[in-house]
Amino acid sequence: MQQNAFSLARIPTITEVQRCALAFLLRVAACESPTGVLVTLPNGARLYDAPAIYQRWWAMTASCANSSASLKDVRWYFTEGDVVPNPAGERVSGYYEPGSHRVVLAGNGAYVGGVVRHEMLHAITRNARHDRATFLARCAGLVDCDFYCVRDAGPAPAADMTAVRVAPTALAIAVAVSRASVSQRDSDDFFEIVVSATNPLPHPIVVDLPASGDDGPPDSFSYRLASVDGSSIQWYDERAWDTSASRFAAGEMKRWVFDTKASFLRATSYEADGLYGNVPAAQRRAVTVTP
Ligand SMILES: [Zn+2]
Repeated sequence: MQQNAFSLARIPTITEVQRCALAFLLRVAACESPTGVLVTLPNGARLYDAPAIYQRWWAMTASCANSSASLKDVRWYFTEGDVVPNPAGERVSGYYEPGSHRVVLAGNGAYVGGVVRHEMLHAITRNARHDRATFLARCAGLVDCDFYCVRDAGPAPAADMTAVRVAPTALAIAVAVSRASVSQRDSDDFFEIVVSATNPLPHPIVVDLPASGDDGPPDSFSYRLASVDGSSIQWYDERAWDTSASRFAAGEMKRWVFDTKASFLRATSYEADGLYGNVPAAQRRAVTVTP
């Protein structure tokens, strides 16, 4: 209905992104309308056209789901704020209704890749439930799967009895960026920071992640995007919501995709760092943001 439902004023500044990051620590992202029955939209929900970046996020999600489903039939709604009540009355960052094939997002999550791709995965599979093999295995690291999602997915399989407990320093940690230079004037100025952790050992491991210091799960993957001049930093710490986040098969690599946008940033030189269990990657990556 509205081509530009999100004006520039709605795009978070760095400060707002940091605030969102904090809000996300408290957030319980999940979404379900288990019956698929159409329900009334939340107060203030507004229809919007999928922004251009949704095409890429949809393709990424369809790829991990091995699907050729189309984005064009999905209807997108947003509400103001960090959370929205789902049909079950839970305060979530978004939810999907299979009956209407519509997604309702709390507006602050409408440009958060992991949140949007979570809802896309529901829409691609036309299922409001959280299948473990899909959300926590094939598409892990690409879609958020927090408290309600993990609860709905059910218990993880029993740990491999031969797994050895190790510290995060036992892993090979790396970071990559999808673009080394990005202009704030690009029509698509999003880019991805991809953090990977690989078990180099010839046997399965369970990683002892350091405690978070709060009531939440420990940190798993994180990123830091700091300007070289030290004037600004953008960051996010993902949590190990599911036990599978700290279990690695022999040689297994896990990845986490973080998304950001040049217009969230200042026009200057940055270094991207990736961490797993608070251990940084062996090498940082340079990103230049130009006006
Ligand atoms: Zn969900």
